[in-house]
Amino acid sequence: MSAPNPEGLRLQVDMIKCVGHASCFELLPERVSLDEWGYPIIETDPLPSGLVSHARRAVAACPTLALRVDGKVARKR
Ligand code: SF4
Repeated sequence: MSAPNPEGLRLQVDMIKCVGHASCFELLPERVSLDEWGYPIIETDPLPSGLVSHARRAVAACPTLALRVDGKVARKR
């Protein structure tokens, strides 16, 4: 596995928008697993440099725009 990307980019999900379509799991199994209902469990540590482009592909494929690659960590409410 490659070193973390220098910008600290992370894959993040907005669970309000997510419908459990699971294409993110199919495209990025290195960082996404599924819970028992088929919703994604996302590793939120900074992405390895070698996975940033794969993560961006998963973001583009999400049908509800629930995923993003961002250096900022979403605040939990
Ligand atoms: S592809 Fe999008 S909608 Fe589908 S499980 Fe992943 S985050 Fe949720």
